[in-house]
Amino acid sequence: MSQFQREERYIVVKLKRIDSDTQDDLREFLVSYQIPTEQCVVVEHDWPIHEETWENVERLAKGHKSIREERDQLLGLTELLDEHPDGYDGPCLCRSCREYGGAS
Ligand SMILES: [Zn+2]
Repeated sequence: MSQFQREERYIVVKLKRIDSDTQDDLREFLVSYQIPTEQCVVVEHDWPIHEETWENVERLAKGHKSIREERDQLLGLTELLDEHPDGYDGPCLCRSCREYGGAS
């Protein structure tokens, strides 16, 4: 399987870094060249979920499940258990945890 490569696909500018006149000029430029903007989520490099977001992008690019889908699948499996698995400290819906509380 080929290695996932992060690539530069967008130019993102934080609006607070440019004054309102420059914002207007930039918007006019984009409109005049008929360059559409994109609907995106931007996660700055210093946010705690930055690397997790990249991991999700990589998973999706490779056709794998997202972190959330994998967690939900695992949570669904724990729901089938009567006893809490030894040493497991992740989210759990086993009978013991449902009845007495536990790792959540
Ligand atoms: Zn449990």
